[in-house]
Amino acid sequence: MKSVHRFSHRILPITFNFKTMSTTPILTRPVKEAMFRPIIAAPPRRNHSSGSAAQAGWFVGMGDKKNAPPDIVKAGDPVLHEPAQEVQADEIGSERIQKIIDDMVKVMRNAPGVGLAAPQIGIPLRIIVLEDTIEYMRYTTKEEIKAQDRQPFDLLVMINPKLKKKGNQSAFFFEGCLSVDGFRAIVERHLEVEVTGFDRYGQAIKVDASGWQARIFQHECDHLDGTLYVDKMVPRTFRTVKNLDLPLAAGCPKLGVR
Ligand SMILES: [Zn+2]
Repeated sequence: MKSVHRFSHRILPITFNFKTMSTTPILTRPVKEAMFRPIIAAPPRRNHSSGSAAQAGWFVGMGDKKNAPPDIVKAGDPVLHEPAQEVQADEIGSERIQKIIDDMVKVMRNAPGVGLAAPQIGIPLRIIVLEDTIEYMRYTTKEEIKAQDRQPFDLLVMINPKLKKKGNQSAFFFEGCLSVDGFRAIVERHLEVEVTGFDRYGQAIKVDASGWQARIFQHECDHLDGTLYVDKMVPRTFRTVKNLDLPLAAGCPKLGVR
């Protein structure tokens, strides 16, 4: 169950249900499926062109470079390894913050990825965006989607998010990051979390997330503390995307919830 409560002047919560009653079938897996699987990072880019050029650069086919979104900052850049600053309440409506949010959404969708934190475009502020779609889920098997408790949800923008774990269950799955291209590792995450913060209009919001959405929230909130998934991964599970399906080394935790 995933829901967002929006508080208007902190009175009268309205609940938006994110569960999409979609009947879209999960399509068969593409040939290069292993390249595109469980991700915080990127499913494949499917427009304009194909192959490594399309995956390497998202300027491909975009034309006007002046309006092109910013680059994704990669591991090693200090902005990814330091805590980000809170956005001041009276700044949320500013042109600057609104532009940063628009850029983040563009960059996330162009990559494409299911989440992005402001430090990933070089901005040391506590802002995250996340979104998951039926289309992205095509690259994962039905079994994996079920195991990961993965469901599509509409774009969420959260400013100054505060994350709290709920319950005591953990989920062990592979994840990746747009700032650590081409790799995956198993990361233990809380199965359920509660996240509070503000939307792009400065309204207080609360999201109860579970499964894959909870994982995305934890991954993105970690970015705001200067933490990458590689800082938390089970080290011996680290591998290239190409080797994602190869067996785990002895002693590694099994995928799943417990
Ligand atoms: Zn990331």
